[in-house]
Amino acid sequence: MLVVMKANAEQADVDRVCQAVSDLNLTAHPIPGKSRTAIGITGNVGPVDPSLLSALPGVIEVIRVTRPYKLTGREMQPEDTIIRVGDVRVGGPEIAVIAGPCSVESHEQTVSGARHLREHGAHMLRGGAFKPRTSPYTFQGLGEEGLKILAEAREQTGLPVVSELMDIENIELAERYVDVIQIGARNMQNYPLLRRVGRSSKPVLLKRGLAATLEEFLLAAEYIMAEGNRNVMLCERGIRTFSDYSRFTLDLSVVPELKRISHLPVIVDPSHAAGRRHLVIPLARAAIAAGADGVMVEVHAEPNRARSDGAQALTLDMFSELMEELRIIAPAVRRTASGGANPTA
Ligand code: PEP
Ligand code: MN
Repeated sequence: MLVVMKANAEQADVDRVCQAVSDLNLTAHPIPGKSRTAIGITGNVGPVDPSLLSALPGVIEVIRVTRPYKLTGREMQPEDTIIRVGDVRVGGPEIAVIAGPCSVESHEQTVSGARHLREHGAHMLRGGAFKPRTSPYTFQGLGEEGLKILAEAREQTGLPVVSELMDIENIELAERYVDVIQIGARNMQNYPLLRRVGRSSKPVLLKRGLAATLEEFLLAAEYIMAEGNRNVMLCERGIRTFSDYSRFTLDLSVVPELKRISHLPVIVDPSHAAGRRHLVIPLARAAIAAGADGVMVEVHAEPNRARSDGAQALTLDMFSELMEELRIIAPAVRRTASGGANPTA
C-alpha cells in the first residue's frame, strides 16, 4: 500500500499518517519525492482498508501496490534512486566504474593498483578481504588486515571502497573500514545477513544469486530496504546456464527489466560472469549500452600471480582501454563516463 501526500502537505501530516500506520501494527516508509512525499506501507499480510488513511489531512490518494516487491519497485517510488558514496553518485547521469582486484593481497598491490585505477577514471575501488571460495583450501582473504589495506588505499587515492561481507559476525569491521558493503552471490538469500545490512548506514551492493530469478533478486533487495536501508545497488554478475565457454552467463536482458521495475541503480559485473579476461571488455561495453548504471570489473597488475580469479582479471592497460571505450559508448546512451569523482553529476 502506498499513501501519496498532497504537494503542499506538511511534515505534521506525514507524521500523522506514519502514526496511523504504526497504530495498525504496520511499518511506514516515508519516501520524499521531487514534488511530494509518498509513504510506503509494509507488514500487512492481507489488504488494508484504505479509508483508514485516505481521510487523513494532506493525503491525496491511497494506492494498492500489487507487486510482491514493494520498496524496491517503481510503483512506490517512480524516480530513480541516486546513491551517494563520498563524492560519487550511483544511478545518476555519470556511469559508475568500480574496479580492483578480486582479493586484497598486499598493501603494495592494492595501493599502487588503486592509483592507476584512479588516474584512468575509476570511481570506486573493490577488493575482497573475506572471500567466498568454492574450496576451503584456497586463499580465503586477509580478513581485517585486508580491510585496513583498503582503507589505506582510500586515504591515498580518495576512492571509496567496496568489499564483501560474508557473515553478521564481521559487520562492525566492515562498517568501520568500507564505504559500500558487498553481499556476494552466494549470500543473496542469507536473510539474517540481508536484514542486518538493512540496519546499516552503509550502502549495499547486492549481487544476484547464481540461480536467482528476477523476483527472488528484488525480494532479496526488499529484505534490506524493509529494515530501513534505502541505498541498495543491484548487481548482475552472471547466472548458471549450460554455457561451456564462460564461467556463468551474463544476463544482460535483466538490466532493462530491472530498470523498468525498480528505481534502484543496476551495476553489471562482467568479470565473474565471463571468467576469462578477453570477454570482459565487450561485456562491459554491452552492459553500459543496455542501460546499466555502472560496471564492476576485476583488475590486477599481474593477473598470473593473482591469489584468486586471475583468469578473469583485466591488466592495468586493459582497464585504461575499457575506460576509453566506455567514454565513447556512454554518450550514445545519454550518459557520461568522465571518470573519477563526479560531485556535480
Ligand atoms: C567477488 O565479487 O569477488 C565475488 C566473489 O563475486 P560473486 O559473489 O558474484 O561470485
Ligand atoms: Mn572474484
